[in-house]
Amino acid sequence: MNYYSLNKQAPDTTFKNAVIKGLAPDKGLYFPERITPLPKDFFATISKRSHTEIAFEAIKQFVVPEIPEQVLKTIVEDTLSFDFPIVKLNDNISTLELFHGPTMAFKDVGARFMARCLGYFNQDNDKEVTVLVATSGDTGGAVANGFLGVKGVNVVILYPSGKVSDIQEKQLTTLGQNIKALEVDGTFDDCQAMVKTAFLDDTLTSKMQLTSANSINVARWLPQLFYFMFAYKQLHNTHKDIVFSVPSGNFGNVCAGMMAQQLGLPIKHFIASNNLNNVVTRYLQSNVYEPKPSLQTISNAMDVGAPSNFIRIQEIYKNNFETLKNNLSSYSFTDEATKAALLEIYKSYNYVADPHGAVGYLGCKAYLETHPEAHCVFLETAHPTKFLDVVEAVIAEKQPLPAQIEAVMDKTKVATAIATYNDLKQFLLHK
Ligand SMILES: *Cc1c(COP(=O)(O)O)cnc(C)c1O
Repeated sequence: MNYYSLNKQAPDTTFKNAVIKGLAPDKGLYFPERITPLPKDFFATISKRSHTEIAFEAIKQFVVPEIPEQVLKTIVEDTLSFDFPIVKLNDNISTLELFHGPTMAFKDVGARFMARCLGYFNQDNDKEVTVLVATSGDTGGAVANGFLGVKGVNVVILYPSGKVSDIQEKQLTTLGQNIKALEVDGTFDDCQAMVKTAFLDDTLTSKMQLTSANSINVARWLPQLFYFMFAYKQLHNTHKDIVFSVPSGNFGNVCAGMMAQQLGLPIKHFIASNNLNNVVTRYLQSNVYEPKPSLQTISNAMDVGAPSNFIRIQEIYKNNFETLKNNLSSYSFTDEATKAALLEIYKSYNYVADPHGAVGYLGCKAYLETHPEAHCVFLETAHPTKFLDVVEAVIAEKQPLPAQIEAVMDKTKVATAIATYNDLKQFLLHK
């Protein structure tokens, strides 16, 4: 399968190249040249299929033959070695728990899949690849964990000092081996700006192969389409229209859901649930797309002012505003509403959500007001203990730490402090 750049100023390229480069030379995001729907029978018999079988069939066309079928099977099996349960709250609302992976955030699946693809492409290559990534919290841990020990790949993670939770910091600074953490005296935006500068710096890129591991990379973005299929497998006999409410930041996850729909998955509608960083909510109301600097909220993984994957969504709908609007709704919620939702979910259903999931729940409720016959699934994108301060304060109850989290808490943090782009450059050149 070939991929083209959405800026249309760069040549088409292979899956392998798209993964290694991350972004096209014209700075556009890569998009697959074809999407071939799966046979109808595949969805009719989905409950008989295993997760790995579903995932393999769904992603095969985007990856094979550059990764041979047998290798892809192993990659998919390794990636999906944990559960994706649906928890029903009532007849109209369920949640799909995406936090049972090693770092308890949904980004584990994309990070693990991408790491294994890159590892395969790099096995006979003596040129190392450096994965450079800025994180506001969850991406760093998932990428560190997913890429740990992958041959020929070095990972450098930039995080804003004092602005990630203790648990998140432990997850990204304690692994060692091929994973290096840089503690930046600055904000997440500063970290991201440094990473962008590095990708444009010829003296760096002529000396090393740099790539990114956020959802602009096709190997991190596409495997997210599995979740929607796993949810459908568990819910297809509810006999209601299935809609998904996706807590959205960079819009990689909801866009992957739309890819699942393009493959034929019978999804009725999508809801992009936002915090006050609501560029897409405003766009669907006004047909004016106006990015803004990000605002800080309690659902901080969605504090994105200019979502990088929205351009892929526009491509799926051929830039047609009306078609998009028929398939996507978007709502925006304040921190106060989010906290009230956390409490409501706990009191009404005895279920502990995290702030991102709570925003998704609110999206379901808003949609169901006008579509009471639907069944809405909100994605629980992180385990509640990753946002312990907020969650324990709202529900006024201590939460037990899961084993995955407990395991990193006693480890020793190793990070290099940096303050400027030049510090980053010197680190990369001399590491
Ligand atoms: C990254 C993240 C999101 C947002 O996902 P996008 O694909 O960027 O829209 C939502 N919730 C959590 C917990 C995340 O880590």
